[in-house]
Amino acid sequence: MNEYDSNRIFDTVKKIGFEKTHIYENADCYLLNTCHIRDKAKEKVYHEIGRVKKKFRFKTKPLVIIAGCVAQAENQEMLKREPYIDFVIGPQSYHKINSTILNYIEQKKKMEETEFDVVSKFEYLSKIKNNSGKVSSFLTIQEGCDKFCHFCVVPYTRGPEYSRPYDQIIDEAKYLVNNGAKEIILLGQNVNAYNYKDYKLSNLILEIEKLTEVKRIRYTTSHPNDMSSDLIEVYRHSKKLMPLIHLPVQSGSDKILKSMNRKHTISEYLKTFEKLKEINSKIEFSSDFIIGYPGEDDQDFKDTLNLIKKLNFINSYSFIFSPRPGTIAENLELVDKKISKDRLEKIQSLLSENQVRNNKFLENQTIDVLVENLTDDKSKAFGRSEYMTPVIFNGKKNDIGKIVQVKIRESNRSTLFGELMNISNKKVA
Ligand code: SF4
Repeated sequence: MNEYDSNRIFDTVKKIGFEKTHIYENADCYLLNTCHIRDKAKEKVYHEIGRVKKKFRFKTKPLVIIAGCVAQAENQEMLKREPYIDFVIGPQSYHKINSTILNYIEQKKKMEETEFDVVSKFEYLSKIKNNSGKVSSFLTIQEGCDKFCHFCVVPYTRGPEYSRPYDQIIDEAKYLVNNGAKEIILLGQNVNAYNYKDYKLSNLILEIEKLTEVKRIRYTTSHPNDMSSDLIEVYRHSKKLMPLIHLPVQSGSDKILKSMNRKHTISEYLKTFEKLKEINSKIEFSSDFIIGYPGEDDQDFKDTLNLIKKLNFINSYSFIFSPRPGTIAENLELVDKKISKDRLEKIQSLLSENQVRNNKFLENQTIDVLVENLTDDKSKAFGRSEYMTPVIFNGKKNDIGKIVQVKIRESNRSTLFGELMNISNKKVA
């Protein structure tokens, strides 16, 4: 979502004359869009500002703006602690960025914009075209969260759940398509909770699917409780909705899920998994795992390992728990660091085995690949499989944006390597 937000911020500041520069020292304005999910996010921001200061030691100081969730969480504190920062702007206020910059230039007054003004934000952004122009383009449909998992800062930094108006989203999808997008990735902190008037995520998918130029649709990130029957049903008929579902479970233990306030049990998660598999056996799952959550004992950890073995998750993420300021889990007693580290290693090696096995299985098979770009040295093409796995093959520039068939010759844990067969001009709608 930060990538989407950064692009939209750029679309906005272009209106007052800013351009991108790839030469760091040439910048008049330095904007850091921050994420609060990862460990030590706040300290990383101060560290980065230290680097900017060094770079500009003998030059005119650029305008320094901190945007995103760390700005939201820290607001005034940042301005006090680091005078090099000129203003902070939260994720629901960046539609005000131009007026804030212009005010600052005129009055040199430090400020923070951290209101949860999400309705005005999307109204404003709908008037500014999304110029992403990428084959695979992000489209935010929902923001914020009301679930309040005990470890998570999102409800505090992005605010309550908000679903963008349906027509606004469809218009943005059409604009992206006219600009070259072939894959639309619908985004939201709780994307499957999308609910605008009577429209759900399933309605959005089916409407976007009607756009002939759209070849693939994905959405992320989902909560297991919001995998509603209408959304599950879309997988029965949709030819464009990709068969990889990112459905974070976080832990395989009911005790830990309860303590995290995830509001579902493993057996409920399994029921959703089975329903989806029954409807479309091609569907695979990826997940997020928090290891060493306070109270996690050996049995809880084994339950997580067993769940991974049972469901064969691919493309998943795993992290050791680290407390976030202001959350309920902040003050809970931590699991011993060494134990958490050992557990993380075990989980990551199991996830990695799954990935290697799945990729190996594809060797000598021909798969559909959406071509996104050429590799950096321009000698090969880069695309993704239906399951988001990167594929490198002998494609050309004019393959970009097409779905082509690639015979997989080799693989490693993260990437498939293959040979272009023929362009499949098959109809996708
Ligand atoms: S559902 Fe996701 S975004 Fe919402 S509080 Fe839980 S982890 Fe955070």
